[in-house]
Amino acid sequence: MHEARLYERRGDAGAGCAGADFAGDYAGKSADCSAENSCGRNSGDSGNVVCRLCSHGCVIKSGGYGICGLRYNKDGVLYAENYGRVAVEAVDPIEKKPLYHFLPGTKVYSLGGVGCNFRCRHCQNWEISQCTTADSLHGLSPQKAVFNAVEHRCKSIAFTYNEPALWHEFAVDIGIAAHEEGLKTIYVTNGYLTVDAVRDLKGIIDAFRVDIKAFSDDFYRKVCGGRLQPVLDSAAAAKDCGMHVEIVNLIIPTLNDAESELKGLCEWVCTNLGENTPIHFTRFHPDYELTNLPATPLSTLEKAYSIAKAAGLNYPYLGNVAGHAGCDTFCPKCGALLIKRDGYRQSEVGLARDGGGRDICKNCGEIIPLVR
Ligand code: SF4
Repeated sequence: MHEARLYERRGDAGAGCAGADFAGDYAGKSADCSAENSCGRNSGDSGNVVCRLCSHGCVIKSGGYGICGLRYNKDGVLYAENYGRVAVEAVDPIEKKPLYHFLPGTKVYSLGGVGCNFRCRHCQNWEISQCTTADSLHGLSPQKAVFNAVEHRCKSIAFTYNEPALWHEFAVDIGIAAHEEGLKTIYVTNGYLTVDAVRDLKGIIDAFRVDIKAFSDDFYRKVCGGRLQPVLDSAAAAKDCGMHVEIVNLIIPTLNDAESELKGLCEWVCTNLGENTPIHFTRFHPDYELTNLPATPLSTLEKAYSIAKAAGLNYPYLGNVAGHAGCDTFCPKCGALLIKRDGYRQSEVGLARDGGGRDICKNCGEIIPLVR
């Protein structure tokens, strides 16, 4: 087993102190964790360790695991047992993530492991997200991951399929190696990593495709096993760190589809992440533990699109409704069609470049924010 050592404990562990100082380091090294001091809630010589990688802030007893089932306390030191352990490698169109404003029309090398820090009742990848061991896991070095991506002519590497935050050390090592080869890097995340963990990724992860699963703490508690505010905080932190941010909101009938909630979400995104932040409203299909609910009506998705526009967002999209005009990109100034999408294929029909190489609307010259 390849173990990644993270946040070696110095002194006694505090209890329930998520959000305190975070001192990350890479696999195979130890790192001071001053969190116990700033937390100020030492629990005596317990042998516990506190993990501050995600907002669960698990206090882990010696020999025990955190909620994710991947990080464990061995003799007072926190380890991650999933370093370099891969369940899925695939070449995808980047539109599948979905990312519509980041390297559009390119291929991405996608990596997925096992485990998650959420317990979403509607998870579509539950076979890998809700287990911590799998017969199909295989080893992969950061160098081999980058080699594979280049060989398949991908422009980026995505950490996806399960929660990438749990791969922190591995993702960092790949991110550094990927940048050396001119590749960009992507997190497809539930956003439950701490703000300090996001800052640890500054300059290493280029795009942060984050789910905001609902604009309700009650939903997060009951459906996902988490809380809303840490997700909002990590999205804002990613933006502050210069990452490209796109949002996905999977709309589930009766659970998170209230107009007031959609309005609150759109206004928050517009105010905190900016009017040019793409937001994808995707259609729910009954899955896992929520097979009793119907698929999202198209009218609900269209309502969300209108709410987003009314809130001032320039680039709302609909997802899981191939061929719908809500999947296309329109100029926010003149309304011209810029990018036509059919499933994961896209055609740039209304874009041109200005003298500085920026994407502009061919019709009116409006600058269109796309990362190339
Ligand atoms: S990464 Fe795992 S161990 Fe660490 S706080 Fe999150 S759930 Fe707990």
